[in-house]
Formats: sequence, structure tokens, C-alpha cells
Amino acid sequence: MKSCLVVDDSKVIRQVARHILETLQFEVREACDGRQALDSCLDSPPDVVLLDWNMPVMSGMDFLRALGESDVTNRPKIIFCTTENGMAHIRAAIDAGADEYVMKPFDRETLESKLQIVGMA
Ligand SMILES: [Mg+2]
Repeated sequence: MKSCLVVDDSKVIRQVARHILETLQFEVREACDGRQALDSCLDSPPDVVLLDWNMPVMSGMDFLRALGESDVTNRPKIIFCTTENGMAHIRAAIDAGADEYVMKPFDRETLESKLQIVGMA
């Protein structure tokens, strides 16, 4: 079973993502900010991280930078979630180490296609 860490400060978004991912046969873990997500990845890296951008404590961008500087063994695939449609914003995330992005709100079909792009579905 593949594992996914859902990182978002919105409980509703985490629940929606968890539900979709469980129907796609993922084992799901949750974190509500980048700091928790980093601890979770260092403890046991998931196969893929679904990463919110705007979060308190540690943002998605700061999480990516910290993960890049860490000695995490199996680097997870990163799909970042954004509500902003600017290419500059998306480019910045890809440059920081994200593998793919998905616009919020997302549905099952969209998320599944993004997971396929990163080789996880
Ligand atoms: Mg947020």
C-alpha cells in the first residue's frame, strides 16, 4: 500500500483529501503545518506528500526548503496544492522541489491524474 502525507491547515481539506486518497488505496497520514510534516517525513518518509502552500508555523515553501536540506533517505514525491493560478507561483514551487501541482478545490479525477503524473497511481 502506498502512503500519502496530507499537509494542510484546513481540517476540511485534509478530510476531503483523505477520503479521496483512501478510495485510491492510499494509507493516509495528516499534518496541519510544515513543521509537523517535516517531523513526519524525517520519522518515516511517505511515498507522496500533498502539500498546502499557505500554512501557519511553516509554509509549504519553507517545508520544501527544509526537506531539501535534510538527510531524509527516500525523498517523497511532492504535489503542492494552490488556489493561485499564476505561472510564477507554480514555477517557484517547482524550483523549490515540488514535482507537480494541483489547483484547489480538487476532485478525485484531478488528484488521481496528478498522482499518475508523479508515478504514484
Ligand atoms: Mg492553507
